[in-house]
Amino acid sequence: MLTVRGVFKRYGQTVALAGVDLEVPIGHTVAVLGPSGSGKSTLLRVIAGLEPPDEGSVIWEGTDLSGIPTHTRRFGLMFQDYALFPHRDVAGNVGFGLRMARASTAEIDRRVAEVLDIVGLSDMGPRRVTELSGGEAQRVALARTLAPAPRLVMLDEPLGSLDRSLREQLVVELGDIFDRLESTVLYVTHDQEEAFTVADRVAVMRDGTLVQDATPERLWEAPAELFVSDFLGFSNRFAATAVDGRADLGWITVPVDVPDGPCQVVLRPDALIADDRGEIQAIVAGSVFRGDHYLARVDTDSGAQLSISLPTRPRVGDRLGIRLNPDGVLALLR
Ligand code: ADP
Ligand code: MG
Repeated sequence: MLTVRGVFKRYGQTVALAGVDLEVPIGHTVAVLGPSGSGKSTLLRVIAGLEPPDEGSVIWEGTDLSGIPTHTRRFGLMFQDYALFPHRDVAGNVGFGLRMARASTAEIDRRVAEVLDIVGLSDMGPRRVTELSGGEAQRVALARTLAPAPRLVMLDEPLGSLDRSLREQLVVELGDIFDRLESTVLYVTHDQEEAFTVADRVAVMRDGTLVQDATPERLWEAPAELFVSDFLGFSNRFAATAVDGRADLGWITVPVDVPDGPCQVVLRPDALIADDRGEIQAIVAGSVFRGDHYLARVDTDSGAQLSISLPTRPRVGDRLGIRLNPDGVLALLR
């Protein structure tokens, strides 16, 4: 298990990491999810030993790694802006780490063929890297990271530069590869769908701290803070006051599970269901296509604005009935 304990890292006035605790069990994939500037890359650099932490420690299977140089940690890091070596072919790129470790030529050839096969590029060894598509280059970079058989694989926004459809395909492949290899993986991304697809657990990062570390299902069901629910894209959010387990939003009263006092009520996407006989009446103000659904903006008759997922495109001005599913109502205190 990788254990990160109480890690602080400052750059001048900037606190990049403000006390991070994180565990990655052997054979699991943990995603670190957060917006740009939240400290994700700094965390990977500290774990890799490329930067010493100001405080705290990085521990592998009970051994504190402070003072252990990067190249002897046997951790693989694929950078955000990874670059392939343009003058080497695919096999030359993939074998790089093994050559650095002075592996024999036979061993390098065997291992390069093996990892190229894993990433689905079996016959591409002799190909020039300047002749690869974006997705192929990404796979070569992954193969280069995997070749020395790192005991921890760290990927920093590995699919960031690819277009959406390729990203969706590759992230599924990555998840399969890590499952098959039983790799221990720390996967950094700012994309929640990517994190949910690839990881068993997702640690949400904000301003150098982890605000919630949970399974994708748990994050979705019960985001710990508004930052998390906002980041998940739960856009129906209302300031309210809880009284005896209920909160009056002005246009509807909902059950809430917080002590009496001010709170924020968040309606998860599953909280609002289009239903002609629903208790909420609204008029469609606009909609956007979201692939498998339409996200409509609606104005309720009582003056609230909501967004709701619909199976077909509504017309502006359409009247819509909406039913509230109380299971999708969240009340958060911060
Ligand atoms: P992320 O990867 O989540 O986008 P980073 O870890 O790159 O975030 O950065 C976290 C914070 O630390 C940012 O405010 C960034 O500007 C700052 N930072 C990161 N690296 C350096 C550095 N080498 N020098 C100064 N500031 C840095
Ligand atoms: Mg980064």
